[in-house]
Amino acid sequence: MDLNTVLEVRDGRQHALWRTGDAWLGGGTYLFSEPQPHLRRLVDLSRMGWEPLTRLPDGSLEIAATCTIAQLSRFAATFPVPAAPLFEQCCRAFLASFKIWNMATLGGNLCNGLPAGPMISLTAALDGSCLLQAQDGRRRRVQVADFITGAGRKDLGEGELLRSVTLPARALTCRTAFRQVSLYGLGRSGALVIGTLDPLDGSLAITVTAATVRPFRLWFPTPPTAAVLHGTLDGAVTEPEWFDDIHGLPAWRRHMALRLAEEVRAELTTHSPSAREAVR
Ligand SMILES: Cc1cc2nc3c(=O)[nH]c(=O)nc-3n(C[C@H](O)[C@H](O)[C@H](O)COP(=O)(O)OP(=O)(O)OC[C@H]3O[C@@H](n4cnc5c(N)ncnc54)[C@H](O)[C@@H]3O)c2cc1C
Repeated sequence: MDLNTVLEVRDGRQHALWRTGDAWLGGGTYLFSEPQPHLRRLVDLSRMGWEPLTRLPDGSLEIAATCTIAQLSRFAATFPVPAAPLFEQCCRAFLASFKIWNMATLGGNLCNGLPAGPMISLTAALDGSCLLQAQDGRRRRVQVADFITGAGRKDLGEGELLRSVTLPARALTCRTAFRQVSLYGLGRSGALVIGTLDPLDGSLAITVTAATVRPFRLWFPTPPTAAVLHGTLDGAVTEPEWFDDIHGLPAWRRHMALRLAEEVRAELTTHSPSAREAVR
């Protein structure tokens, strides 16, 4: 839709001083989807020229904030790591239109902070960290699971830019399991649960998104029993943290999250391949 309070679109490469009413423009799929009466200027990131995906010397993967869902999906198709299938599963959890698939960015998805943000699910589950840059150039890192602090809320200062997300090499070697549920076919995620089993030390992480207002990443040094997982997850998420909107009632989301978490636990612990098998 037209944003008729926006008077100027600036190129992010030549961006001047940040002003009240400015917003970073990623793919624009959220920004142009509803009125933004508080905005006066958009600062366009699409021509920053950042390499979408970079494998760093230590084996970690750096994903630029401007990387689109389409670029991530294409990359993952030939990415030779055990966690690669999770990328496509999360891209598909978007159930996006052609426009969203090709325009929406990783950064826009994280900074929108929706509970059903599938790039939040992917990067929180793979222990990702955000690189943030303030207007004065200062940089800091924060874990994705801590970056999202509530529904639509994130740890981002005024004018602060999400530059990239880095997924550590160790997380990419994990065996993963994925479950997602919506109230209706091709609907927005009501609960999304990802398990990652570390082949080196046998630890298990269970990450719940969509059902909750923010990501919950639970780490267990050894795989828990069904009862321990149920108790830990149910104890970690307080009542108001089960998300409530038109895409699902909190009680249903809680029920599904607990059920999917158990399915993920069972899938990853029934057959635990050796480290060598897992990285092959
Ligand atoms: C029909 C439809 C269905 C949708 N379904 C979903 C869904 O299932 N799940 C979901 O999560 N979203 C959904 N969305 C919302 C939106 O499309 C996605 O969240 C998308 O990932 C936003 O990415 P973008 O690059 O287009 O962000 P933009 O629209 O460009 O930006 C989103 C927000 O992030 C800020 N921002 C963007 N990039 C940065 C950056 N690098 N640093 C700091 N701030 C930044 C912007 O200022 C803005 O506030 C849907 C939208 C529509 C129209």
